[in-house]
Amino acid sequence: MSLVALRLPQGVRCAIAVTYDTDMAGGYAPDGICHGRTMPALQAHLLRLCDTAESFGVRLQFFQIGNGLDQEDVAYLREILRRGHAVDSHTYSHMALIGDPETLREELLRTNRLFQERLGRRSTVLRGPGGYQNGLRDHPANQQVILDCGFRWVSCQYDNAMPRREPRYAVEAPAREAPYEYPSGLIEFPLQGYTDRVWFDMVHCVDQAAYDAWRVAHGHQPVEPGWRAPWTHPQALERWIEYNLAVADFVYERRLAWVLCWHPYSHYLHDPENRMLPALLAHCAAKPERVQVGTLRDVVGMVIE
Ligand SMILES: [Zn+2]
Repeated sequence: MSLVALRLPQGVRCAIAVTYDTDMAGGYAPDGICHGRTMPALQAHLLRLCDTAESFGVRLQFFQIGNGLDQEDVAYLREILRRGHAVDSHTYSHMALIGDPETLREELLRTNRLFQERLGRRSTVLRGPGGYQNGLRDHPANQQVILDCGFRWVSCQYDNAMPRREPRYAVEAPAREAPYEYPSGLIEFPLQGYTDRVWFDMVHCVDQAAYDAWRVAHGHQPVEPGWRAPWTHPQALERWIEYNLAVADFVYERRLAWVLCWHPYSHYLHDPENRMLPALLAHCAAKPERVQVGTLRDVVGMVIE
């Protein structure tokens, strides 16, 4: 395993890949099953995120579960692509990349076919469902399957220790969790820092019973305007914005690349007025030197071979 060096474009101080997994998350599902058949209210939220990004001249990275491409209407994804954002694979059924290698091969090939048939695109970067402490380091056969299926880049390592550490530990994740190459040649871009799911529904969950009750009764259905998640600490969104701006300051100071991982569904629930994304983009735009905010494909393009 060897670290991978990135070359930032001329005049760019640091880079941020804004990646969203578009899941209908299992953590919000009455039956606990995560799938990719995005409900219309969430499709609208995705397009709203694109509007925000475009107003800053930024393109977003989405990762889509393949079984969502089996449904009749994928116009929202075609629209996202037409507007210049990136959509890549998140497996067919939200299968963990560390699972059975041959099942993984079927999942990835099936999703590749659906990307081609329904979106007319080939996915080149793979996001691993769930995230794994050691990435794919203990799974050489899975690395090979991913390479065989046409991916040279994967993003699946996630540090589960953050909630148990001091706050600064998560802010400094982009320095500690640098991209690296597995012995197979596959290149890993770890998910750096807190995901929104962990932040809002785990670290800032103050009423687990309320969360469980909502999930069973109302999960995977639209919420009313003005609704607030009854399980989440009232300051969670303020702190989330503060935390993410602190990471942006850290990568700016250190000239790093930061791969963050968010979910439209989590922001739909916990940030219904859409404050986080514009706050981050405005913060970066106000820096004296240029911050390149964009897709994971953009950051992959900075790898020095
Ligand atoms: Zn996912």
